[in-house]
Amino acid sequence: MHLPSRTNASQPSNPLASLRHARVDDLLRQHPAALHDLVQGLGSPLHLMLPQVFVENIRQFQRTFDQAPATGTLLFAKKANKADCLIQACSQEGIGVDVASVGELEKALGGGVPGHAIGVSGPEKSERLLALSLSHQCLLAIDSPSELQRLLHLARHRDQQARLLLRCLPESQPESRFGLDPGQCAQAIALCREHPRWLRLMGFSFHLGGYSSEQRAQTANRLLDLCVSTRAAGLEHCRRLNLGGGLAVRYVSPGAWARFLQQDRPNHYHGARTFNGFYPYGAPRATADALADILATPVDTAMTLAQKAERHAIELMIEPGRALLDQAGISAFRVQGVKDRGDGYALVTVQGSSFSLSEQWFNSEFLPEPLLLPAEPRPAAPFLACVGGSTCLESDMLTWRKIRFDQPVRPGDLLVYLNTAGYQMDSNESPFHEARLPYKVVIELDGPTLRWKLDGLA
Ligand SMILES: *Cc1c(COP(=O)(O)O)cnc(C)c1O
Repeated sequence: MHLPSRTNASQPSNPLASLRHARVDDLLRQHPAALHDLVQGLGSPLHLMLPQVFVENIRQFQRTFDQAPATGTLLFAKKANKADCLIQACSQEGIGVDVASVGELEKALGGGVPGHAIGVSGPEKSERLLALSLSHQCLLAIDSPSELQRLLHLARHRDQQARLLLRCLPESQPESRFGLDPGQCAQAIALCREHPRWLRLMGFSFHLGGYSSEQRAQTANRLLDLCVSTRAAGLEHCRRLNLGGGLAVRYVSPGAWARFLQQDRPNHYHGARTFNGFYPYGAPRATADALADILATPVDTAMTLAQKAERHAIELMIEPGRALLDQAGISAFRVQGVKDRGDGYALVTVQGSSFSLSEQWFNSEFLPEPLLLPAEPRPAAPFLACVGGSTCLESDMLTWRKIRFDQPVRPGDLLVYLNTAGYQMDSNESPFHEARLPYKVVIELDGPTLRWKLDGLA
């Protein structure tokens, strides 16, 4: 008789160790007791923000722009993380912020970012958001003909001039619900020519899904031509091109990622779960390298995108969210219990939920592996486990994949998910089950000294 082998049933997948910035590594290695204390005192999960890393990322992007011939401007796409410390860092570093709601705009202004450095995107913006943007001279990305009409009406009524970009529907992604098609764009340009007193057209913008540098450069090239011809037609302020965000982040090594994908299969996951697809966690070119690739893409004969922008005196803007947050935050969950599944793996339940790990709610999985910080030393022994949240939802799993730990996981341990600042930690959080929203702690490392404070405190 053939019996299914238990060991076979729970063979682990190829490992996906999370990459760690040196500062994150220092925090985990030198201060594990402080992490346990913080979670003890402030609750699980606890998000730890590292604005020092965020500032390094800002400077890395600025260096990349500095090394290119064209002028570049950086805005942080605020929706990727709500922490106040990030807005303060933007203000201190003199970069802009991209917002899409009154609440986000208030936070940006309140954090000290001047209105003219704030981009306002999002479709069919509310009357209040348009009015506030006008008052503070923000740069509005217009998404539809009706929105432009409403802005014109408002600007005329208040006798204020609106600074605006026209967001274009990219040729390569015609199914997108955002942006103006070429006909609408031509009409919008005509309206701006008719009403220069109230509508100041500053340029064009786009935002692409996916992570192709080539596609971004080609879309930018077409809009650069449009910028040049619009300016030649008399709209002299039309000299900006916003390339949006979508620069990839590398969470695991590209080699590990390739090996993982080769032998990924449903029985590596609890309940043989399958997914729509995964974020490209092992991107070969990411963050500032991806920007460098876009800038250096040949677009015309013997001319790169950056050279062409420089030649026509067009300022290139980008508004990354995820890429500016690379390695700028981690999330610690306390283990509440461990249940044997009797199938060669355990189900670890942590205090908190997968609402604090948003990827889990897009029929996908946050694949970079959490790190185990045991409550007390214990002998090494391989231990296979997946990770669930402490809610009553069957689908509330932080990790469906059966992950191999080097030690048994026990209650009181911490599981730390790395690199969670970009979209993972707070975009889906809710007070489900009457739980309060998790705290964020701002961490600063100064040599061997760790300083912390709650985010949002002055
Ligand atoms: C979400 C968004 C961004 C940021 O995207 P990332 O992938 O986080 O870089 C930038 N611009 C617009 C218009 C967006 O909607």
